[in-house]
Amino acid sequence: MGVAENLEKVRKRIEAACERSGRDPSEVKLVAVTKTVPVEIIEEAISAGVTDIGENRVQEARTKYEAIGNKVRWHMIGYLQRNKVKYAVRIFDMIHSVDRIELVKELEKRLSKENKTMPVLIEVNVAGEKTKHGVDPRDLFSLAQEVLGSKHLKAIGLMTMAPYVEDPEEVRWVFKKLRELRDELNERFGEEVFSELSMGMSNDFEVAIEEGATMVRIGTAIFGERS
Ligand SMILES: *Cc1c(COP(=O)(O)O)cnc(C)c1O
Repeated sequence: MGVAENLEKVRKRIEAACERSGRDPSEVKLVAVTKTVPVEIIEEAISAGVTDIGENRVQEARTKYEAIGNKVRWHMIGYLQRNKVKYAVRIFDMIHSVDRIELVKELEKRLSKENKTMPVLIEVNVAGEKTKHGVDPRDLFSLAQEVLGSKHLKAIGLMTMAPYVEDPEEVRWVFKKLRELRDELNERFGEEVFSELSMGMSNDFEVAIEEGATMVRIGTAIFGERS
């Protein structure tokens, strides 16, 4: 099965999930996750209409960025090391994985040097998994304050990764919880700064959409299993 056909199927499933939950499909952005996928295949996806790609490693993204350039939007979705921030701010159009104050400070420093503003999402470890990154929900408010106080960061929403399970219904609560955390933040800050919810991957994106996802990050369902 080719990338174009897979994409078509994914789009149909996104539309169906929107239909079920009374949402407009234009509210849900598809971020094609291209980690480990070679440039030729990414180009195939771009020809088939992909406008946003997600990478989780800065070094890999740098190499691909040289070949592909700015014709797509680049989303950083993985753990961002402090010593990679300098390069990340040059490549990426958006960072989904802001998870600690130290990182906010480094981003602010590098962005102000480049005279750039970066839309960011705060990654929340909703399920409290030891193996996952993301801020503990209890520390979310203070991290959000730090982001809002940083001139060159533009807070736009929250991101989470649900635990991998066979039946995505089992993680519906994770997506619901992220939506509630977003609504609470907006209430506490008194304005709707956090609008985006980046949640849902190949295995669980339909449930995430039903719970309000505005961005889904999908790799395997488009490009096949990673080797
Ligand atoms: C790899 C990855 C995805 C995509 O996962 P698939 O199951 O292949 O769709 C989404 N989000 C993040 C943060 C990832 O690292």
